[in-house]
Amino acid sequence: MDSNGKKTRIVKDIKVDTKKCVGCRACEIACSAFHATPKFSSVNTARSRIMVVMDEVRDIFVPIRAGDYTQAECTGRNRYVIDGKEYDECTFCPASCPSRDAFKEPDSGIPLKCDMCESVPPLEQPMCVEACTFGALTYEEREEVVEAEPEQRGELEIAYESLVKKYGKKRVRDTFSRLSKA
Ligand code: SF4
Ligand code: SF4
Ligand code: SF4
Repeated sequence: MDSNGKKTRIVKDIKVDTKKCVGCRACEIACSAFHATPKFSSVNTARSRIMVVMDEVRDIFVPIRAGDYTQAECTGRNRYVIDGKEYDECTFCPASCPSRDAFKEPDSGIPLKCDMCESVPPLEQPMCVEACTFGALTYEEREEVVEAEPEQRGELEIAYESLVKKYGKKRVRDTFSRLSKA
């Protein structure tokens, strides 16, 4: 709750500054180690929920965190042109998608998604941020007011309104009253 008594929620976010990313992939290593079973027992960047897209010739490094799983390839895609080079449509997509192997558990194919390193007790900041000594990843938390859901009208209320519209309030009331006595 905020000071006005409104319901709030904490939104967690990682800000990416691609200019500071050097492509060291420490974030991938840290993420995969944190999610190993047991924790920190192994490192396999194919199991990481963050992937650094690298173009060493152009000095472009873009860390992408895994988003939602999608069952089918999308039909509307984005094409990125950076410093005159056009990148493949799926290059910067965070989805675990049938079109490629990214963000899938290598043995089982189970989709991987960034969970912000949820753990008990909670970490001060996610592992990838902790591991990024170049300052390319910054953890942020903000409080957002939760908009109240519009009250859902029940089926009965909708049906009653349409009956009133059709037959008039009095007739509907009389009918309900008669039926309730039956
Ligand atoms: S740890 Fe930081 S600098 Fe290294 S690849 Fe990841 S985001 Fe880039
Ligand atoms: S990887 Fe992303 S952009 Fe490419 S088809 Fe799948 S959802 Fe679409
Ligand atoms: S926040 Fe945690 S789960 Fe998400 S990419 Fe970073 S290390 Fe991996």
